[in-house]
Amino acid sequence: MSPPKKGYRKCSRCDRNRAERFYTPRGRICLDCRRARQRKSARDARVHRTYGLSVDDYAQIFKFQDGRCAICRETRRTNLAVDHCHKTNAVRGLLCARCNSTLLARGARDRVDVLRRAADYLEKYPAWEALGEPRYTPETGRNDG
Ligand SMILES: [Zn+2]
Ligand SMILES: [Zn+2]
Repeated sequence: MSPPKKGYRKCSRCDRNRAERFYTPRGRICLDCRRARQRKSARDARVHRTYGLSVDDYAQIFKFQDGRCAICRETRRTNLAVDHCHKTNAVRGLLCARCNSTLLARGARDRVDVLRRAADYLEKYPAWEALGEPRYTPETGRNDG
């Protein structure tokens, strides 16, 4: 790796050599990484507010599910959505957008293994397994969506 060209700086997060315009005057992290970090902290705050899960809680469930959707098991590059039961407020687990929005309807796609996992999922919540205790969304500040 050669040192950055003149007028370029190396981002301490993504390791790319990028032009000065991607940085604040004294910044060590490029614009894209800075935005990603802001997005992540906004998401962390929303997950905590809406589902009562800390960053560690989420990471624990994510790890428990091998970073995959609990139902279709397909790996997603993006973060998985927190799924909860609208009747009991139980936090059930992490699902991909497809399984979360159309639980079974399209997530299953005629696959028996997926349907079985969906049934298991509804009987045994991965979030509770991962965290070792029942968890519910906070009573106040409900903000379903
Ligand atoms: Zn960067
Ligand atoms: Zn899925």
